Amino acid sequence: MSTTKRILVTGAGGFIGHHLIRRLKGDGHWVRGVDIKEPDYEPSAADEFALLDLRRFDQCLAATQDIDQVYNLAADMGGIGYITAFLASIACNNTLINAHMLEASRLNNIQKFLFSSSACVYAQSKQKSANVTPLKEEDAYPAEPEPGYGWEKLWTEELCHYFYKDYKLETRIVRFHNVFGPLGTYDGGKEKAPAAVSRKVALAQDGGEIEVWGDGEQTRSFMYIDDCVEGLIRLMHSDYHDALNLGTDRMVTINELVDIVSGIAGKRLHKRHDVSKPQGVRGRNSDNSRLREVLGWEPSITLEQGLASTYKWIAAEIAKEKPALAAAATAT
Ligand code: NAD
Repeated sequence: MSTTKRILVTGAGGFIGHHLIRRLKGDGHWVRGVDIKEPDYEPSAADEFALLDLRRFDQCLAATQDIDQVYNLAADMGGIGYITAFLASIACNNTLINAHMLEASRLNNIQKFLFSSSACVYAQSKQKSANVTPLKEEDAYPAEPEPGYGWEKLWTEELCHYFYKDYKLETRIVRFHNVFGPLGTYDGGKEKAPAAVSRKVALAQDGGEIEVWGDGEQTRSFMYIDDCVEGLIRLMHSDYHDALNLGTDRMVTINELVDIVSGIAGKRLHKRHDVSKPQGVRGRNSDNSRLREVLGWEPSITLEQGLASTYKWIAAEIAKEKPALAAAATAT
């Protein structure tokens, strides 16, 4: 019997969806990608790419037609500056996308539906110290998630449980912790810390300074995109219905992140901290006990390895897009 599946990836014009499709095609599957936009940097590897607005139920029905599995990655999202600025539109857009995608998947007899949740579901009171205790899956309750974006993710996790309980839709729920890598947004306001830091370092002159949001002592853990894709596929293959962390458990401060990227670039840079900028929770890290137990695996690509390829890609993009700025940054 063939193990080739017909797979739908939503958010296929975005960072994780684009990488996931490359991997699924490499594994021999037939893939439909759906998004409201094309991928930013290179064409999709999908067999079929449809521009659809998944806030609309009719478009979710069209997207899920003749499909076996759904990786539902579409979301209105960005870095901390973006998700703290637009609470109403982010919450409304993502509520519509996820409720409609679940119902359309049920009606079209989808075999498995994976929902991409986030570490932003975790209770904020458990993330007040930079030296935070790593977050276990049960730390999402009692509920006190990130306003807007985090509340919507937590509610859709619940919806996934209800669709499994009432309709036997085989749902999977992944909670990503800070995914980064090449082909991710690196400017424009939606970029996350590793990409923003890489851009700033690439544009700075050796001996110059870069702006860091907050005092830089806030902590996070970061996962490279190849590990993220591997974890997604393993979770889809599992029979696990509850929410599962997918991230690394190596916690670093943002100041350390800047130092690692500066070292990769071979630049000595002074940090100018802007404490008026949003920095999110003070500390966040992933407890990977359940991930190891359920998948028998966890991410293993080091932060230094991942940042080296991410920095190289962003620096090359800047040299292509903004040659004058890139030349000024490398001038001695
Ligand atoms: P991304 O922003 O690069 O991709 C999301 C895609 O969804 C975008 O291409 C966007 O155009 C598309 N989209 C938005 N509204 C849509 C609509 N109405 N119809 C169709 N498509 C629409 O983000 P990403 O980093 O690839 O994240 C993928 C998923 O993982 C998202 O659900 C996100 O919330 C979640 N997540 C990501 C991270 C991370 O660190 N990257 C962390 C936690 C959770």
